[in-house]
Amino acid sequence: MTESRVAELGNGFLQVKIPLPFSLKWVNSYIVPEQDGVTVIDPGLRTAEAESAWSEAMAGCGLTYKSIRRIIVTHQHPDHYGLAGLLQEKSGADVYLTRRAHAYTRKLWGGESLYPAELRELFLAHGMPEELMGAIELNLASFVARVSPQPKVQYLEAGGVIELGGEIWQLIDAPGHAFGALCFYQEEKQWMICGDQVLPRITPNISVVPGEERDPLQAFILSLKELREYPVKLALPGHRDPFADFQKRIDELLAHHERRLTAMTAELEEGPLSAFELCEKQFGAHLRSNPHNLRFAMSETLAHLFHLAIREEVTEMRRADGLTLYQQVNAL
Ligand SMILES: [Zn+2]
Ligand SMILES: [Zn+2]
Repeated sequence: MTESRVAELGNGFLQVKIPLPFSLKWVNSYIVPEQDGVTVIDPGLRTAEAESAWSEAMAGCGLTYKSIRRIIVTHQHPDHYGLAGLLQEKSGADVYLTRRAHAYTRKLWGGESLYPAELRELFLAHGMPEELMGAIELNLASFVARVSPQPKVQYLEAGGVIELGGEIWQLIDAPGHAFGALCFYQEEKQWMICGDQVLPRITPNISVVPGEERDPLQAFILSLKELREYPVKLALPGHRDPFADFQKRIDELLAHHERRLTAMTAELEEGPLSAFELCEKQFGAHLRSNPHNLRFAMSETLAHLFHLAIREEVTEMRRADGLTLYQQVNAL
């Protein structure tokens, strides 16, 4: 098991596949050798399977929890951040992420969270049926245990640098998939630790989050165009395996979103639709039985519709009963 879970990437960097209970299957944690121990990047989601995967991987590498000197979280999503607190408890390591990423963790899992109520209001206004919203809320609530205990953190800031594995890495702001996310770039080696901003074979989810920027897709597109300028020999993603064709993958992601924008606009040819109706047309009604994936699909649909509305390619109409519908501009 350990052999397949841990892969050596060169320069002593290790990729550790930490299992996830979703269709994504695993998140990549990276172990970086330091003079007096190791740095762990993105420890994973807290589940019993993930905890035993860590114990097994560390034993296989001749490490103990006390070897962990520092934990870095590329972004705040629970599949990356969730185990940071537990690993901190076991190791005494410092945990680092950006101030904005930390604010998001407090907004979602910080006790009196307003997020579920805000998400309910947003989704219902865009046509999500009440019973499906209830299932989404139950699924959301299940994440509190998967990110607990929450770590005490210190902040990293985009635009700065960090020493990692004896080398200097640039900290690059990478918004759109998660605001406050960072990519880490090592100029001499041309390595990019990219979190979920650029993934091979998976298109990173772009979600509208209540209370955050209205057009995350625009932020994501601009970020990809900025990242595309970096020469990259090896990209270390949050999911799937490290890959070399970074620029090509960025081009594919940009093209994917343009195609989806075009497809959504085309769906409106027959007449106005709600975001939920469009979500089902784009992603399929089978998602009704998977509240986790339905939440992502609905947020992704909203991100594309908000982007189209801001580009004035579709218009939004709020009906008297509160339901928002979208229609093609040329249908007016
Ligand atoms: Zn993510
Ligand atoms: Zn992820």
